[in-house]
Amino acid sequence: MKKIVLLGPPGCGKGTQSKYLVQNFNFIQISTGDLLRIEIDNKESILGKKIKQIITKGELVPDDIVINLIIKEIKDKKTFSMVFDGFPRNLQQAIVLDKSLNVISTKLNHAIFFEVDLGILEDRIKKRINESSIKEKRVDDNIETLLTRIEVYKKNTIPIIEYYEKKSILSRVNGMKPINEVSEKIRNIIT
Ligand code: AMP
Repeated sequence: MKKIVLLGPPGCGKGTQSKYLVQNFNFIQISTGDLLRIEIDNKESILGKKIKQIITKGELVPDDIVINLIIKEIKDKKTFSMVFDGFPRNLQQAIVLDKSLNVISTKLNHAIFFEVDLGILEDRIKKRINESSIKEKRVDDNIETLLTRIEVYKKNTIPIIEYYEKKSILSRVNGMKPINEVSEKIRNIIT
């Protein structure tokens, strides 16, 4: 059973490629963003309200909250191949992920980094924001939040790349290529 991390800035295609792995290779997608949005949808949850405020600003939700969610998911789904989408987002989370996988006697096989031109990416996401209907808009689908998310990414997430490089499990894909070409690249990496 494989365990894979997808790394890259918001809007680089991690979600789309996670779905490719789910549909074609029986992976379970573990997206901390989705788990946090489920918490927000629970209108009774005080924690959900706190999370919503943070996500709306584009900042990172505190590690203790995210880590609790992820540990539970890993335990529940330990017999499956897992693709981590949006986790880890900082070094501390990367270390916790290794420890949590160790507890279930497994480890990461690959960290796949989506390399993108951040300028072009910004334009692409702005276009998507303008075109999406109100119904499908997320609380963080606006230009101001997007810019914060990219800054947060640069500061917190980029150091993880070096961490995985040192462990010799890092692969790079060109995230600016068409979706099917990126999928093909990922298929080559994992098989
Ligand atoms: P995503 O759906 O992955 O784009 O995440 C949406 C938002 O959820 C992010 O901008 C953060 O506010 C929050 N979030 C998702 N994953 C994490 C994480 N691993 N650590 C902290 N905050 C997260």
